Amino acid sequence: MSKVLNEVLAANQAYSQAFGAKGELPLPPARQFAILTCMDARLDPAKYAGLAEGDAHVIRNAGGRATDDAVRSLVISHKLLGTREWFVIHHTNCGMELFADDVIADLLDDDLGTASFDGKSWSNPHHKGGHAAGHFIKWHTIKNQESSVVQDVRRIREHPLVPANVPIYGYIYDVRTGRLDQVKAATEAGKPKAA
Ligand SMILES: [Zn+2]
Repeated sequence: MSKVLNEVLAANQAYSQAFGAKGELPLPPARQFAILTCMDARLDPAKYAGLAEGDAHVIRNAGGRATDDAVRSLVISHKLLGTREWFVIHHTNCGMELFADDVIADLLDDDLGTASFDGKSWSNPHHKGGHAAGHFIKWHTIKNQESSVVQDVRRIREHPLVPANVPIYGYIYDVRTGRLDQVKAATEAGKPKAA
């Protein structure tokens, strides 16, 4: 069996043995908020935002971008599960700043295996043939963290299915300090409009 699979199953066994009263948690998040953030392995929203099981929704994707699917989750989060405040949290040193759409599309076109990065550019160790499908995907890369947070907050704020009274806060998590720094222009753009 794979090493990782073994480790995960062992960790889960220990977790479930100490599960206790968490089995009784209600489905709607108790603290009524949601976080949209990046999948980056260095980010642990439960820790950086102080969450326990049952507290809040955490929606993650590459970059923490307000994609159609992220908006779908946020709308469900409010409409059916009662969250009333949302955070968009991007972070410093995000992998999404390290490539552009044509870069990943060209790499995938050449080979599907993991590419390597030399600090400046990406290359494929093998060239076994990939697929052209990557040219038809919008990868939601990031050129500037602050503007990406503002963009995403604005996109959510202006979405027709997002009610005007949900405040949306924009932050950048610093991977070197663990600190959340507010992006004022984003929080400003995400201010609730008086009901
Ligand atoms: Zn990231």
